[in-house]
Amino acid sequence: MVRKLDVWQTPWDEFDGYLFDIDGTLINCTDAVHYFAFCDALKQLSGMPLTLEGVTAHGNTDVGILRDALKLAGIPEDEWRPRLPTTRDTMCEFVEAREDELCVTLLPAVHVVLQHLTTCNATLGLATGNLKRIGQAKLRRAGILDYFSVGGWSDQFEDRTDVFRGAVAQMHQARSTNATICILGDTPADILAAHANRLPVIAVATGVYSREQLLRHKPELCLNSFEDLFV
Ligand SMILES: [Mg+2]
Repeated sequence: MVRKLDVWQTPWDEFDGYLFDIDGTLINCTDAVHYFAFCDALKQLSGMPLTLEGVTAHGNTDVGILRDALKLAGIPEDEWRPRLPTTRDTMCEFVEAREDELCVTLLPAVHVVLQHLTTCNATLGLATGNLKRIGQAKLRRAGILDYFSVGGWSDQFEDRTDVFRGAVAQMHQARSTNATICILGDTPADILAAHANRLPVIAVATGVYSREQLLRHKPELCLNSFEDLFV
């Protein structure tokens, strides 16, 4: 049986383009390299040691996480905002210098999905809250970076909806403005950002959110893992 997306009644593998979230959707990272990159960046921007305690990281963007942590610490925006571009670069350098320490595992059936969609002639892209160089380092480490030719990253955007809009524009450039696009993500934020861009979304419960939690936001298809696509 081919899994179809609700309402659209489109088989899951018949879209022109696919935009994948990274963490919790394609891979799991069990190291703390990205976390320590945030701590390093926060120290640069605030001049004091800060952590991500009390900040929502899942479904947020890298720049949004920095903004929320600084806001929580009461650091005025006009003090850190001008230095953000430099800190973004330093954060990327921090992760790239420790790429060998990244402990990345592919989530179930990810390789099969990527290979299958490539065989279907789909264009594969990313729509993620990661900064570009950090997301690329993770995917390189996972051995799947070469599957993707389009990417929406958080370098220029703090809001996930804007990240997705940028990724969609790239997908339209790569295919055509009529290209059908499907989003794949593991958080309510992915579902909301997809719908804000009028796109269907396949939600997958391989991150921190359960299938029941994701279903509340009405994704067009909701899976326990990508393995469900092949049963
Ligand atoms: Mg995610």
